Amino acid sequence: MDSNKQNVRETVNTKTKVQHRNFPMVPRVVYGKGSFDQLGDILMPQRKSSEAPCVFLVDDVFEDTDFVTRIPLIFNDRLVFISADEEPKTAQVDALVEKISQDFEELPSGIIGIGGGTLLDLAKAVAIMLNNEGSSADYQGWDLVSKPSVYHVGIPTISGTGAEISRTTVLLGPERKLGINSDYTIFDQVILDPDLTQGVPKDQWFYTGMDCFIHCIESLNGTFLNAFSESHGEKALALCKEVYLGDLDVNESREKLMMASWHGGMSIAYSQVGVAHAMSYGLSYVLGVRHGIGNCLVFQHLEEFYPEGVALFKQMVAQQNIVLPTGITASLSDTDFDTMTRVAMSMEPLWENALGKDWCNTISHAKLKTIYQKI
Ligand code: NAD
Ligand code: ZN
Repeated sequence: MDSNKQNVRETVNTKTKVQHRNFPMVPRVVYGKGSFDQLGDILMPQRKSSEAPCVFLVDDVFEDTDFVTRIPLIFNDRLVFISADEEPKTAQVDALVEKISQDFEELPSGIIGIGGGTLLDLAKAVAIMLNNEGSSADYQGWDLVSKPSVYHVGIPTISGTGAEISRTTVLLGPERKLGINSDYTIFDQVILDPDLTQGVPKDQWFYTGMDCFIHCIESLNGTFLNAFSESHGEKALALCKEVYLGDLDVNESREKLMMASWHGGMSIAYSQVGVAHAMSYGLSYVLGVRHGIGNCLVFQHLEEFYPEGVALFKQMVAQQNIVLPTGITASLSDTDFDTMTRVAMSMEPLWENALGKDWCNTISHAKLKTIYQKI
């Protein structure tokens, strides 16, 4: 789940005092084309000694490309290429942490994640686990991390998830797919360089960008909406419309989608996602369908919940000549459908945001199964 525990219901009401949640934000961000080349200067003051390396976790799509020569490696820094073919797992995080701890005598000076949501989430989780005992699976949930993470930097190379600003890292664990939601998850530094998204394949550009669009629709139409979330959600939605329905040149489009992702993430930070994310989570749990495309597959069938959003989505699909796959759930058994609906319905805050406190009376296993069967 890529959303934070809802805030409004966590508010503690007493006779005299209302306690609102106090969220951390990314304290430092550089934005601009070519800004990646400032990374070396940014890291320098963070380096504790020549023995305390910076560890760069980089999407392996960049292996053997010129981009690698721009990564500012010095001393005993380590570059680790990681495939984003599968979404991050707790076992993968634990293995990375063990290897780093074995290979270096000193704690790293920094963990730098370069890639999409997959690499950003891995970097966040590794940074947390280098300073906290046990398995990353122990920390899936809300506010279970007790010690600050190692300094960590997020550098997105594809736009949409908002993982660059969120206080969660979504991991598939032995028992569940759930984020490590904590104040220590948030990046210490983000570099937003729109040029890094140049090589993204068109389908993936659409699916990950639609994650942002769906964040906006779910946040703006949710019962948890507030002025903070609305202001970010509206801006992100307007940018998504420019990118997917407008006539921008490619540079402008990259820049605007990067900022849409940021604002979309800010919007759900102080509200919540909704039906599409709850159902996409079920789809992903049973079939391993990835986040962006999973959201799209579900969202196209949610006219009942988000009529205007779904109409806009279909316009974007048509304008961008995207052909969504079909027959995804065709061979599933009743047991599979049961698991899928159970997992989706367990996302209570998402349903409450989408449909209000009485959501249980609107939604049923049978209804969700009917929607899943259309996919
Ligand atoms: P991704 O990181 O999974 O990457 C998708 C594909 O794009 C991969 O094949 C990758 O190699 C490729 N790619 C990335 N940058 C590229 C580039 N510049 N050129 C060419 N190819 C490139 O994609 P994503 O959609 O950004 O992330 C999905 C993940 O993010 C999921 O694991 C999801 O759970 C997570 N997520 C996290 C949050 C959060 O707040 N932490 C929010 C939403 C989603
Ligand atoms: Zn999402």
